[in-house]
Amino acid sequence: MVNTCGFIDAAKEESIDALLEAAGVAARNGARLAAVGCLVERYREELEPELPEVDLWCGLDLAPLLAAFVQWGGEEEAIERAGAAGRGTDASVEPASGHRAAPAAASPARRRSRPVSAYVKISDGCDRRCAYCAIPLIKGDYEVVPPAEVLGQARAALVEGARELVLVGQDTSRYDAPGYGGLDRLLADVAALGPAWVRLLYLQPDGVDARLLEAMGRHTLPYVDVPLQHASRRVLTAMGRRGDGEAYLELLAKVRRELPEATVRSTFLVGFPGETEADVDELVAFIEEARLAVAGVFAFDPQEGTRAATLDGQVPEGLRLERAARVGAAIDRAAAPYWEGLVGRTVEALVEHGRRGQPSAAVGRIAAQAPDVDGIALLEGPRLRRGRLCRARVVAAQGYDVTAEVEAR
Ligand code: SF4
Repeated sequence: MVNTCGFIDAAKEESIDALLEAAGVAARNGARLAAVGCLVERYREELEPELPEVDLWCGLDLAPLLAAFVQWGGEEEAIERAGAAGRGTDASVEPASGHRAAPAAASPARRRSRPVSAYVKISDGCDRRCAYCAIPLIKGDYEVVPPAEVLGQARAALVEGARELVLVGQDTSRYDAPGYGGLDRLLADVAALGPAWVRLLYLQPDGVDARLLEAMGRHTLPYVDVPLQHASRRVLTAMGRRGDGEAYLELLAKVRRELPEATVRSTFLVGFPGETEADVDELVAFIEEARLAVAGVFAFDPQEGTRAATLDGQVPEGLRLERAARVGAAIDRAAAPYWEGLVGRTVEALVEHGRRGQPSAAVGRIAAQAPDVDGIALLEGPRLRRGRLCRARVVAAQGYDVTAEVEAR
């Protein structure tokens, strides 16, 4: 089963490459091949005649996949688990700068191989309609995942051995379920299930208020993932987004007042139609002041069906990539003091997997590192069993990675 992504061209190409590779494996092994997910939802008619090797096409509704899987002799329970976990998930996407942008969720296959951390979807779709974004065209309007279902997913992940629950959705700060309440209650209920860490991703800036920050202070890691996209008001307005650099600096100050230990992550998009060199200068100046710990940057990639694809003032591709590289370098420079500042500090770390032939070394993450999109922690010390939450002293920082010595107890 290949879970595809149709978000931007790079992701589409990666999905098609994965399908071709899987078709070869399936042919050699006499296996069946199913293509599922966002790319199929959007481009099934075009894809089907091109890839006759695929046995089953299935967009975001996985019911036909379940039926076919049972018919093919699979275990119903296994595919139900994959379906619940992968409902509407996207592949991760590698933007131009080399900084990875956050995926909407990990693929079931990836999670199975790393159950220390599990993604839990709390909403799907988006009503915001940013001019460059194809997600609402694929996923449709915002829809809340009912709290009972969220908590069911979370319980199932914990039973399977997850120690960290990562709550995702396109617009997580908006969570509000009729007759239940908002994100503050959901965070409390998820935390009450007893995971080692709860991490919340994709907070739209206008949803980060005092109530949410207070709830995060109680129930989640102090990790604030807030996609800002730009700092120039002119560009943000053209994108159909609110705010500007000044408002965002105030927001970050508020975040740091409420959560002094906060690791702040963001995402930026450069080369949007009409963007000038002065806009990029403004963004770089913002990044220098914002003290973000980590950020991803995308070069604008016009997507069929979006407003931005037909706007005047398209920036040539070479220039888009150049700007992304410049902003990426600014992000690296601005983030370095954050990671160097951790050296000598004792922090929490989660052990993910051992290192072959090295019993006293393992790979894991500290609270400041989200799975799949951020750096890793090279851990050294005794009893580094998978899933252990420990205290570790950071002894070195290498870019966005750290080396840390785990305390005996
Ligand atoms: S808020 Fe995010 S998902 Fe929604 S339209 Fe904008 S970029 Fe796309």
